[in-house]
Amino acid sequence: MSDPEAKCAARLMEDKKQPPHVVIFPLPLQGHVNSMLQLAELLALSGLKVTFLNSPHNHNHLPQFADVPARFTKFPGFEFRTVPDGLADDHPRTGRFLLEMLDGMIVKTKPSLRDLLVDINPSVDCIIGDGILGYLLDIGEELEIPVIQFRTISACCLWVYYRIPDLIGAGEIPVGGNEDMDRLIKMVEGMENFLRGRDLPSFCRAKNLEVEGTRVQTFAQETRRSATAHALILNTFEDLEGPILSHIRTKFPKIYTIGPLHAHLRTKLSEKNLVSSDSLNGIREVDRSCISWLDQQAMHSVVYVSFGSIAGLTREQLLEVWYGLVKSKVRFLWVVRPDSVLGHWGDEDVPVELMEGTEERGYLVDWAPQEEVLDHWAVGGFLTHSGWNSTLESVVAGVPMICWPQFADQHVNSRYVSEVWKIGLDMKDFCDRHVVEKLVNDLMEEKREEFVGSARTMAKLAKESVSFGGSSYCNLDSLIEDIKLMSLKKS
Ligand code: UDP
Repeated sequence: MSDPEAKCAARLMEDKKQPPHVVIFPLPLQGHVNSMLQLAELLALSGLKVTFLNSPHNHNHLPQFADVPARFTKFPGFEFRTVPDGLADDHPRTGRFLLEMLDGMIVKTKPSLRDLLVDINPSVDCIIGDGILGYLLDIGEELEIPVIQFRTISACCLWVYYRIPDLIGAGEIPVGGNEDMDRLIKMVEGMENFLRGRDLPSFCRAKNLEVEGTRVQTFAQETRRSATAHALILNTFEDLEGPILSHIRTKFPKIYTIGPLHAHLRTKLSEKNLVSSDSLNGIREVDRSCISWLDQQAMHSVVYVSFGSIAGLTREQLLEVWYGLVKSKVRFLWVVRPDSVLGHWGDEDVPVELMEGTEERGYLVDWAPQEEVLDHWAVGGFLTHSGWNSTLESVVAGVPMICWPQFADQHVNSRYVSEVWKIGLDMKDFCDRHVVEKLVNDLMEEKREEFVGSARTMAKLAKESVSFGGSSYCNLDSLIEDIKLMSLKKS
């Protein structure tokens, strides 16, 4: 046997002794990293070797603010590696840098990732890639590594994305201008009776399409391409999105619904008698003083307000929300990220009445331990931007929502929250101080009973889905079997 052949055989023998090796690569944004780290931990708990790819920026921030190093050292095979995120080192990475990042990734990330996958030892059995990064399929094809795609959005939004080329072809989008935004959109099967123009993803609006027209096509094409991946993982559960999943399954041959992932992780950790604390995957410093503040409030008396990790508010929007909260007279805990206010903003800009109202009934933080906040007995409602992680976290906690979607999938999610699941109210396109005041009062008092019953039922279903024998629990087992089979086939 020649030297290279001997080396190759030795490596194969070595590989066979190893558990399957999965490389996980999220889009390096908070919401994506959060759910894909939860998936990584679930796979590591089941004995797979996991390599998690971070951007250097996130890699530096995670150990500072999250309990990530402590959580992952218990898995000997677990490794973090870095690949560039496509942005310059000194880029502030605040605001809406997604499109810039996606462009940069093709040039910088794709070649680095390819090189890493060629060199990595042990060799890779499966790539679990963020479904928004279609180029992972090219790399997988070239290197003959199966790719499973993970979409961090809801199934309902995925289905709308899938239908976008048809909507464009039929002239149903763009929406906006002088037209009736309440017009029903008839071409998305399963949503014919409730999906309105205003509920389509934000980039379907005429003013956005002018700027992002080609990009919309690209997103839609990437979604269709996902059907060619080995399989698709969705952070959802059958009882929540079953009807729409049955439509999606006609186009995507193999789907694993294994969510809500944060709740699933809690189940698996407690099965193994490991500490089942909330997973802190944040790349920002958490202000835990809000938990002490919540401890002093009455049961279900507080509305928690957060618009996620990316959304930005103009000065006017911020003031409208703030006035609405203060005028509602309901107690509020509000996450105002320092980078969330667009344009200049300082303490001197806050009207005295807002300062006084906030001192009396409110509490502001830069970043909260959200899962823990939503689980706190003092929290009775969530004013949210309807990001998918936030929506699932609220569903599991049984907390009804007021939705004020900002962009992307959030417009579809909020329609489902209000019209399909009936676990909250939708405020899209109508956010002023009077509306905020009214909806907060409706959710927390007037109509509370209406929503609390359905929110509790959905929370129970969510927990059952990730318990032994539940749909997500069984689907995770099947996913792991699938990955093991890939590894066996390779060897
Ligand atoms: N989050 C948090 N603390 C905060 C605000 C948000 O931990 O103060 C977390 C939240 O729990 C969720 C994620 O950040 O897991 C936001 O993801 P989501 O999909 O809701 O929205 P995005 O930030 O992607 O718009």
